[in-house]
Amino acid sequence: MYRSHNCGELRTTHNNTEVTLAGWVQGVRDKGFMVYVDVRDRYGITQLYFDEDQTSKDLMEQAQRLGREFVIQVKGKVQERASKNPNIPTGDIEVLVSELTVLNSSIVPPFTIEDQTDGGDDLRMKYRYLDIRRNPVKGNLIFRHKVAQAVRNYLSNNGFIEVETPYLIKSTPEGARDFVVPSRMNEGQFYALPQSPQTFKQLLMVGGMDKYFQIVKCFRDEDLRADRQPEFTQIDCEMAFVEQEDILNTFEGLTRHLLKEINGVDVEKFPRLLYDDAMRLYGNDKPDIRFGMEFGELNAVAQHKDFNVFNSAELVVGIAVPGGNSYTRKDIDKLIDWVKRPQVGALGMVYCRCNDDGSYKSSVDKFYNQDDLAKWAEVTGAKAGDLICVLSGETSKVRAQLSALRMELAERLGLRNPDEFAPLWVMDFPLLEWDEETERYHAMHHPFTSPKPGQLELLDTKPCEVKANAYDLVLNGNEIGGGSIRIHDKATQAIMLKHLGFSDEEARAQFGFLMDAFEYGAPPHGGIAFGLDRLVAILGGQETIRDFIAFPKNNSGRDVMIDAPAPIDKEQLEELNLKLNLKS
Ligand code: ASP
Repeated sequence: MYRSHNCGELRTTHNNTEVTLAGWVQGVRDKGFMVYVDVRDRYGITQLYFDEDQTSKDLMEQAQRLGREFVIQVKGKVQERASKNPNIPTGDIEVLVSELTVLNSSIVPPFTIEDQTDGGDDLRMKYRYLDIRRNPVKGNLIFRHKVAQAVRNYLSNNGFIEVETPYLIKSTPEGARDFVVPSRMNEGQFYALPQSPQTFKQLLMVGGMDKYFQIVKCFRDEDLRADRQPEFTQIDCEMAFVEQEDILNTFEGLTRHLLKEINGVDVEKFPRLLYDDAMRLYGNDKPDIRFGMEFGELNAVAQHKDFNVFNSAELVVGIAVPGGNSYTRKDIDKLIDWVKRPQVGALGMVYCRCNDDGSYKSSVDKFYNQDDLAKWAEVTGAKAGDLICVLSGETSKVRAQLSALRMELAERLGLRNPDEFAPLWVMDFPLLEWDEETERYHAMHHPFTSPKPGQLELLDTKPCEVKANAYDLVLNGNEIGGGSIRIHDKATQAIMLKHLGFSDEEARAQFGFLMDAFEYGAPPHGGIAFGLDRLVAILGGQETIRDFIAFPKNNSGRDVMIDAPAPIDKEQLEELNLKLNLKS
């Protein structure tokens, strides 16, 4: 037996017990006649004690030669410490060592294995196996395990069956580029890695497996914005014989269970917001509703007053910043610079101070009198002491800009409390969206999402007005899940694909298998998928998913530890009948 106890469990109740511990050397403090060694494993740290009077010279020297991250095994007796350390659970005891075995030595690690390390991001990723020895990373992985366990328990207890679906498949359109894998046995042909198991889970419904889930890797080859990974994990779910309401209730139940089990938080019934309202009130389809600052649309009260910037705008919209009247002129100028940054893209910002005496002072006083400004305050809900920030321009752009400002100000005002959880459903998304680049309609969710009942005909006349049976679960300003009630008949699916610009042949070639399945008694069905990485990060009170993934990729999609992607041998290329045509 390598160890009788772990490095986190010994207490004074173990005094005088003979124990065997194994772990890594955290540090050695050599006082000459006494040597202290901290030994660490997954469970904690224990102090080992060697002293001249009770330890052989050999053993003393052995201890003195230990280096950081050596792997050791020790035998010894637990004793109460002379000076206790209240900061660690084992701080009352130490082990007086009688035998020491070096199981493996270590070269000096490239960064300190401490909670606060001196290692930068790149270095930590290159030596991720050392990083994982650190409490914060180790803790995150254990936390992730707990969340995944809680998900499995809940779904399993509710009759869901976990079924694995293949990774070597044909494209599943979820809006990103596919990663492809060449097939050696089928010359010139490629598999695509699933962007999600979407079509397979629908086929499982046709197969009668009426409650499915899977914790599954998905692959999307997209430009990696700040916090995305090319491979990520979904809690993928599907149910047959359900309506939207059944899905919402089931997965609200799952989310509530997780918040209770993991965070000890009880949440009321989740509010539901229509997509159109989310855009109008927050400029965003994943609003953070932990705080107010709802948008007030000012067209009716701010246009036709000789201020051309507003008169020519499609939308004039403002928010009230609580306590913002305390901002100095310089603070406000900085805010204006902030919204003008290319990442936000506003052309400027109009503001109005709401003074404590009930008067107003705006940056456009030339055009607006006190009564006008009082209306701005009314529409944005501004009170004395607040600052009203107003943007104007093209509706979709202005909403996105003001949403960015709202989030930034909330962050600065400390309104985004990570210990508070405000989930909501956003529903009735548009079915289609127009893509300027490709000049065609795209499915906003995916091509298998059904339109709202009775809206199919609208597809021919006003495609952008058709709403989908689609819903997102939003938590603290993040989309943590999304799904829809699916199309389950061939004719409707064919109409949908036609509107997405597929010819009959293309539709047949890409989705023939699904359309065929729909002819064999496909039940009504729908589902949802949660992004596990993000969910775990939010429940863990953090926002970067990388910290919760054991071996994440960097922003260029590289694994810097194993150095992938990498070229392959000439022979391997030949075997695959592939030739490279590199541009550089
Ligand atoms: N497959 C969808 C996604 O990955 C989720 C769903 O519709 O169930 O977003």
